[in-house]
Amino acid sequence: MVTLYGESVYKDICIGKLSYYGGKESTVTQYQIEDSDSEIANYKEASQKAVEQLKMLYDKAIREVGEDSAAIFEAHRMMLEDSEYQKAIETLISTEKVNAAYAISVTGKKFAKMFQNMDNDYMRERAVDVQDVSDRLIKTLSNETLDGNKFDEPVIIAARDLTPSDTLQFPKEKLLGFMLEQGSANSHTAILARSMGIPALISVQTLCMEKYDGHQAILDGENSVVYIDPDEETFSEYEKKVAELSKKKKKLQSLKGKETITRSGRKIRLYANAGNLMDVDNAVENDAEGIGLFRSEFLYLENSDFPTEEQQFEAYKQVLEKMGDRQVIIRTLDIGADKKTDYFKLDDEENPAMGYRALRICLTRPEIFKTQLRALYRAGCYGNLAIMIPMVISLEEIQMVREIILQVQQELKQEGKPYKENVELGIMIETPAAALISDKLAKEVDFFSIGTNDLSQYTMAIDRQNQNLQHFFNPHHEAVFKLIEMSIQAIHNEGKWVGICGELGADFDVTQKLIEMGIDEFSVSPGILLEMRKKIRES
Ligand code: PEP
Ligand code: MG
Repeated sequence: MVTLYGESVYKDICIGKLSYYGGKESTVTQYQIEDSDSEIANYKEASQKAVEQLKMLYDKAIREVGEDSAAIFEAHRMMLEDSEYQKAIETLISTEKVNAAYAISVTGKKFAKMFQNMDNDYMRERAVDVQDVSDRLIKTLSNETLDGNKFDEPVIIAARDLTPSDTLQFPKEKLLGFMLEQGSANSHTAILARSMGIPALISVQTLCMEKYDGHQAILDGENSVVYIDPDEETFSEYEKKVAELSKKKKKLQSLKGKETITRSGRKIRLYANAGNLMDVDNAVENDAEGIGLFRSEFLYLENSDFPTEEQQFEAYKQVLEKMGDRQVIIRTLDIGADKKTDYFKLDDEENPAMGYRALRICLTRPEIFKTQLRALYRAGCYGNLAIMIPMVISLEEIQMVREIILQVQQELKQEGKPYKENVELGIMIETPAAALISDKLAKEVDFFSIGTNDLSQYTMAIDRQNQNLQHFFNPHHEAVFKLIEMSIQAIHNEGKWVGICGELGADFDVTQKLIEMGIDEFSVSPGILLEMRKKIRES
């Protein structure tokens, strides 16, 4: 039995045969052509076909994995139609008199290298995309179809890397999971694995995937491990685990449509945390009663420049429309600390978690904040929006936020742009300062949401990113619970409501305790919503 470790991008388990996929390693030979016009015409014809394929893939992806994940195929189509890319290929064919496939291959590599050398992580990852596009073009040119159908039984794909279109073209019913030697959690392939709900490991430490082709394997995304040729004991242990897992999942389905209510009859709001549209789809699928925390900064992190008002408006509108009349709490930009991106040009700091982040950036760079607020208030017309402010420590900050909101609303009114006037405004309680003055803050806002991830790190002075301090970290520290209780009482005294969106809210060991303290809403990741409902109904 061989045991390999990797990084899990989706926590599930599968058992099956490994199939090595060499995907995009097609070799292209160079030869001289005589008639460059007809070679260019061949290239153009192939390019047109590839564009059609990508349009079909886009439609397929929309149906199967949602709009967010489908966007990559639209981006690929745009790359194919990019005039610089087209010109580079045509120039090579006409000046060097080389065959089209070779010209495409050289151009693809050149563009990929250009992306690889960029500073920004997101742009660097686009190197795979441009390679993927060129590969598709070469295969189309030689009439070679991308072969996802060669498998006659469901398999676990083992590959050096997979492109998004490789992943999507494998018939879903035949794909149990995949393990890749390369890949990053940010890549579109990882995103697709999550949206398809299949166990997957990236960065698997092995020198040669190929030699495991045809071998039996257990891929355990829960523990980030894969067992190849498992011994009998491991095999039967996992057979049991898989059976238990699927029984558990099936049983939980019966909770869809049921009320989230405690034994004593208290109704609790069961909301989901989300970072993109796919999470929202997952939330809907798992019967979320609302979105309790939409981390809007992910939209900024995915971009190589500030997302425009229109881009943001579209994204928020889609989230709201997907949720219908259910409440959607969008948190304003919480960039900084561990969530950094180049174009904000944030300085390196001694203490980034206690540094220039979130609301502090919004209040000192109001042009960024105003763009987001304009998009939010405009999108508010399309659903049940609430806005939440992160990292608050004082009353003055709330006053400043309210002033900016008024300015934004006045400007929208003057421009004749429709917007929602009355949107609930809440704050996160994630600093001890906010918890300790929660009685005052409660008078100024409509609700609280307790962010225990940060509240715990600031209360215990333990960096949440630092693995070495885990030994000292106590997620159930009495001091954290005191601050939570204090905040709940403060907001209830004003007749308003309070939720919890930090990871402690998903800790079943304290569900009962939090309910007894008076928490009105739990916001957890979409995958555990039904388990959470079960737990609350038993509390
Ligand atoms: C928190 O701090 O608990 C929280 C939910 O916000 P984030 O994890 O995004 O910092
Ligand atoms: Mg936080």
